[in-house]
Amino acid sequence: MSAQLIDGNALAAKLRAHMTTEVARLTALGHRPGLTVLLVGEDPASQVYVRNKVKACEAIGMASSLERHPADMSEAALLARIQELNADPAVHGILVQLPLPKHLNSDLVIETIAPEKDVDGFHVASAGALMVGQPGFKPCTPYGCMKMLEDIGCNPRGKHAVVIGRSNIVGKPMAMLLLQASATVTICHSATPNLAEITRQADILVAAVGRPRFVTADMVKAGAVVLDVGINRTPEGKLCGDVDFDAVRQVAGWITPVPGGVGPMTITMLLQNTLEAAQRKAGA
Ligand code: NDP
Repeated sequence: MSAQLIDGNALAAKLRAHMTTEVARLTALGHRPGLTVLLVGEDPASQVYVRNKVKACEAIGMASSLERHPADMSEAALLARIQELNADPAVHGILVQLPLPKHLNSDLVIETIAPEKDVDGFHVASAGALMVGQPGFKPCTPYGCMKMLEDIGCNPRGKHAVVIGRSNIVGKPMAMLLLQASATVTICHSATPNLAEITRQADILVAAVGRPRFVTADMVKAGAVVLDVGINRTPEGKLCGDVDFDAVRQVAGWITPVPGGVGPMTITMLLQNTLEAAQRKAGA
């Protein structure tokens, strides 16, 4: 039997429709949520990502602005600009598109964003808040994965969740969110021996590896929920995930496609975080 599809586009549309109403309510109260996106340099993929983020804001009625800065912008100038945005009451969320040009220290740049405007959830204060269970912004991709689980009625409590990948933006926060939801969590990475043995125990399997079709059918337990975070290009230029979709869907209970799975949820949760930032600021 073939797995049920978790449709990221449909869930994103549903959540964005709710957000549109909330944005209108806040706007009527004089607190129109606003996101500012900073792009330094001309990386072609980043240009597409930032355009999509700004368009998504506009589609739900949020204010958004895209600031393009030259690739040779100095670190001092970028930090000064972030500080100005930190002080601007009309800006609720600040996002610096990564990767930055090599001469800029990304950690320092991210740490300069005020934690209450860190809608990407990459600031150490956001990571720390997630770790100790305090309110803060959750990184958008894992947050979106949790929404997907909720939407299909999969409560992680008491389940074995296996996360492949331990990056600061996906793997680690994903594991923390699953732990908060009372799953028993195993984090795997490139030094994990017997990976398939571990993944075969997963009721919930999250693949955030960055390798095309890395998760094969023999690595998946029958009926498991499989969330594929990977975005890879095949040699033929086709988009594909970290999961061998056609084979794994024969084994899994639920599965996200690529494209149309986790991807659309990531931007949706960026909107959600910006909305939450505005709600907190407005106290409404
Ligand atoms: P990173 O490269 O930062 O992390 C990849 C992780 O996979 C690392 O922890 C690495 O282990 C682990 N890994 C690599 N090879 C193996 C292996 N053979 N066995 C087990 N683990 C392995 O990537 P990201 O977390 O940033 O992204 C992961 C994927 O998700 C990428 O395809 C990226 O494009 C995609 N992505 C998608 C998003 C979306 O919106 N859908 C958002 C963000 C990312 P180690 O730490 O030991 O090196």
